[in-house]
Amino acid sequence: MSSTTIDFDVRLVTESKLPSVDFNHIEFGKVYSDHMFAAEYEEGEWKNFRIEPYANLSISPANATLHYAQSVFEGLKAYKNDAGEIVVFRPQANAKRMIISAERMCIPPISEELFMEALTELLKLDAAWIPTKPDTSLYIRPVIFANDPYVGIRPSNTYKFLIFTGPVGAYYSEPVNVKIETKYTRAVAGGVGFAKTAGNYAASLYPALQAQKEGYHQLIWTDGQEHQYIEEAGTMNLMFCINDTLITAPAGGSILDGITKNSILTIARDWGMKVEERKLRVTELIEAFEAGQVQEAFGAGTAATVSKIKMIGYEGKQYNLPTVTPVADKLLKEMEDIKMGRKEDVHGWIYKV
Ligand SMILES: *Cc1c(COP(=O)(O)O)cnc(C)c1O
Repeated sequence: MSSTTIDFDVRLVTESKLPSVDFNHIEFGKVYSDHMFAAEYEEGEWKNFRIEPYANLSISPANATLHYAQSVFEGLKAYKNDAGEIVVFRPQANAKRMIISAERMCIPPISEELFMEALTELLKLDAAWIPTKPDTSLYIRPVIFANDPYVGIRPSNTYKFLIFTGPVGAYYSEPVNVKIETKYTRAVAGGVGFAKTAGNYAASLYPALQAQKEGYHQLIWTDGQEHQYIEEAGTMNLMFCINDTLITAPAGGSILDGITKNSILTIARDWGMKVEERKLRVTELIEAFEAGQVQEAFGAGTAATVSKIKMIGYEGKQYNLPTVTPVADKLLKEMEDIKMGRKEDVHGWIYKV
């Protein structure tokens, strides 16, 4: 259970927006809860910790983030479990990753303690916003961004840290078609691929749009040097089940270290499955397809937990995956059972607010 030691100023909304929300039809990323956490970095320290009504910000046209994308974010979810308790899946891991992302972007890191307490207070206050229907959740978006009104290039001297939330509906996803991208690059070794930072996503929009025009839902990024090795999918890490072995590319460098992926690997190892975190050559994957050894492929990320792939396109050819996916199904159920309190949380992944 949580306890608070940091002081927050709290300013409540005069009228909640909750009655206007149709919880039967929630579109992802369009509805936000009543309150947000906010803090500023000024004169060398994080200060002004507060919870206030969710509202627009006033930003200088010269705001450094608008021009140069010196910003980092996170994405995680709160649920109500079967006992009606508010739970969050591994939020400390998000806090740690935000600190790693911040360091790479010259953003003064927040403390894990501040992240956790801000999150806890916010969730307590907006607990009524957490949807309760199966598979729904409250999406949590922490973001830190440069706030200097200065168009020169240097790390900003001032920053804002916000956490806001919004209810999201059941993530119903059809298995997707993905294209192995061999022309465009998301991230390179030595770059910022491992950081959850704004520019990575802006850079991926154009290649993703081209793939969509060809009928694909998403891209599989390959390494930026030679386009020979499988990396990830842009908002998800990728996992392949080949010859009864679960294979995923090692994170760090150009690949974001996903918490869902890490949790899945841990569960699979607990089950005694063969797990390999290693580089996977595109040609190895194609040869495995041709030998009929590719059993499953799926993305792993907070949005859908597990997102199944039904077809992979490479150099104009299409490689279909089996529609029977026992590994993905079992992993998804295990993750849901842990979150909902139906299974013992042996790894201490569940944070109760
Ligand atoms: C957020 C993200 C993921 C998934 O990470 P989770 O912690 O599992 O949500 C994977 N790849 C990229 C590029 C991401 O931004």
